[in-house]
Amino acid sequence: MKKIAVLTSGGDSQGMNSAIRAVVRTGLRHGFEMYGIKRGFKGLMADDFIELGSREVSDILYRGGTFLQSARSEAFKTEEGQLKGVANLKKREIDYVVVIGGDGSYRGAQALTRHGIQTYGLPGTIDNDIPLTDYTIGFDTTLNVVTDAIGNLRDTMSSHERVSVIEAMGRNCGDIALQAGISSGVDAILIPEVNNDIDKIADEIKAGFDRGKSHSIVVVAEGAGNAEDVANAIKERTGLDTRPTVLGHIQRGGTPSAFDRVFTSRMGHRVIELIEEGTYNVALGMQENRITYHTFDEIFSAENSIDDRLYKVFEDLV
Ligand code: ATP
Repeated sequence: MKKIAVLTSGGDSQGMNSAIRAVVRTGLRHGFEMYGIKRGFKGLMADDFIELGSREVSDILYRGGTFLQSARSEAFKTEEGQLKGVANLKKREIDYVVVIGGDGSYRGAQALTRHGIQTYGLPGTIDNDIPLTDYTIGFDTTLNVVTDAIGNLRDTMSSHERVSVIEAMGRNCGDIALQAGISSGVDAILIPEVNNDIDKIADEIKAGFDRGKSHSIVVVAEGAGNAEDVANAIKERTGLDTRPTVLGHIQRGGTPSAFDRVFTSRMGHRVIELIEEGTYNVALGMQENRITYHTFDEIFSAENSIDDRLYKVFEDLV
């Protein structure tokens, strides 16, 4: 009987559990023997495998995080580490590995392919920073968490006539800040993909208060600065009471949204179809509401960028 193993790697994201469940349940239905590897590539090297039946993935669809746990492993970046992992897979006669993680994890997946293991990537990262997919796993849930947090802050900022500067995750990709900015109707966003003009932002905030606004909200993606520096810069320029808030790890938590559950279920299901078709060394994603796949090399050579049309939507609605 052919065997498939699943692992989660890098930062966790809401919907990883749902992806694991979909791969496992579909795999079992197609007659594969299914395994989970604990703590990503670290567990692969340590031979930390568990066999997964249908019951083992019960009750995880709606839970954030990953029940297989995740980790980062510098040792797996070395040839020696990879050979250790491959030996553990070969010993168990596992032919296929599904890696759920970000672009770093995709590099690990590709390394396995170089050693004769057929691998599949699912985009498990909240930042939406993987090319050739419109969404990554957990992005939609995070967007909802950030939107709720901004709503809560708006209430108190309005009572005290303050400016709130909220730092959202996104080191290289400003999508969380951009889309939360649109969904929350904030006054300004700072994202790494564009030149952010703090003088202009401060002038517009001041003008808004002069016109009678009771509060102002600015969202900054972590890759474009930190909340404290931006708050200080606005305070210096406007004299307004300005408060920084770093949302931090709450953004990774929470029950996955319906979108993330359906999206991951579709991708997990598709992985098994690809295995049956003999396609491997690919990463899956969703483009224009269709589940698509590309080779790891295509993903690595493509550029990730925000949707310019969305940025224009934000600018025109401020
Ligand atoms: P996130 O987007 O949450 O940061 P990520 O998957 O990009 O997720 P990384 O820390 O970059 O997170 O990578 C996760 C793990 O993937 C690393 O700890 C390492 O084990 C493995 N990995 C990363 N790069 C390579 C590489 N070049 N070769 C082999 N393995 C790698």
